Amino acid sequence: MTEFQLLKNAQPTAENVREAIKADPGFGNHFTDHMAHVRYTREQGWHAHSVRPYGKIVLDPAAAVFHYAQEIFEGLKAYRHADGSVWTFRPQKNAARINISAARLALPEISEEDFVGSLRALVEQDVEWVPTPASAADEVSLYLRPFMIASETFLGVRASHEVDYYVIASPAGAYFPGGVEPVSIWLSQNYKRASHGGTGFAKAGGNYAASLAAGEQAAAKGCAQVLFTDAAEDKYIEELGGMNLMLVTREGKLLTPELGDSILDGVTRRSLLELAPQLGLEPEERRIPIEEWREGAASGEITEAFACGTAAVITPIGRLVSEDFTIDHGDQPGEYSMKLRTTLLDIQYGRTADINNWMVRL
Ligand code: PMP
Repeated sequence: MTEFQLLKNAQPTAENVREAIKADPGFGNHFTDHMAHVRYTREQGWHAHSVRPYGKIVLDPAAAVFHYAQEIFEGLKAYRHADGSVWTFRPQKNAARINISAARLALPEISEEDFVGSLRALVEQDVEWVPTPASAADEVSLYLRPFMIASETFLGVRASHEVDYYVIASPAGAYFPGGVEPVSIWLSQNYKRASHGGTGFAKAGGNYAASLAAGEQAAAKGCAQVLFTDAAEDKYIEELGGMNLMLVTREGKLLTPELGDSILDGVTRRSLLELAPQLGLEPEERRIPIEEWREGAASGEITEAFACGTAAVITPIGRLVSEDFTIDHGDQPGEYSMKLRTTLLDIQYGRTADINNWMVRL
């Protein structure tokens, strides 16, 4: 086990400032006092493991990441339990996924030991930053953002020989402070997120860059997220810009698009599929034509739709809006959406027995 060397922060955030930020953190606005770092070179492999003061990264303007977007990232949360202990959820899945992303982006793989070790080393140092939920409705956490960048100074188009891996952390407030509310999502008809043979299954910054123009269109239509369909036939549901999508049928199926190389293998998606039988739902992964959703919602065959991911766990979808049609699931969150949501949150916040052994103590 490689030790993460602690480089001291000269001026850690004052307690009163930290507490004020924790009381109203929003999402992604504020960062803790430290960051974890590991350096990679072709000669030395991964080395110089440290936890250092949070601060600017100095890179040469010719660093590869600025030009060819050789970058990948992850996202997971640290949860404080009632006894004060701090835990994270299935980090091995994120470790596996960052390496799937790394292979696709020609970045070096990082060991699960270094990945989980970097989270632990950072949270140990900044544990004061992990918010304490005031009640079961208070979904506060410390969001952890590991990322890897190509840092070699070189303008040739090839895989970088120098890479830096960091973890930063940001206190996250309740996603739905006023109670869970269904959102409207926009069906992107002229932009695609991912295609066969591309990078859709990787958590690469470039995928998100490519989704932003569609996100602007969605915002202009009053929608919170974009739903992308497949690039080949423009027929099948894939996923949202930053969440997977699930449908619940009247017959008790939990339906979601099957994974391929254009869909991200979400940890929340996977976990909900595994929890479904416990709630009397039968999980089913297959290709889902958008027409099937449209007709099913109209006939009453498809009763609920929701988005799922680390940030909001489950976000009910009230409406799917497109240029040509609207699918309407109403203004109230669905029964199974809420049951699945509570079941998962209870595990994450330690309010129920973790029979699957999903929680890892930091
Ligand atoms: N799809 C995309 C494109 C995402 O960015 C995310 C967020 N990581 C997800 C799905 C959900 O993944 P997870 O449940 O692991 O957060």
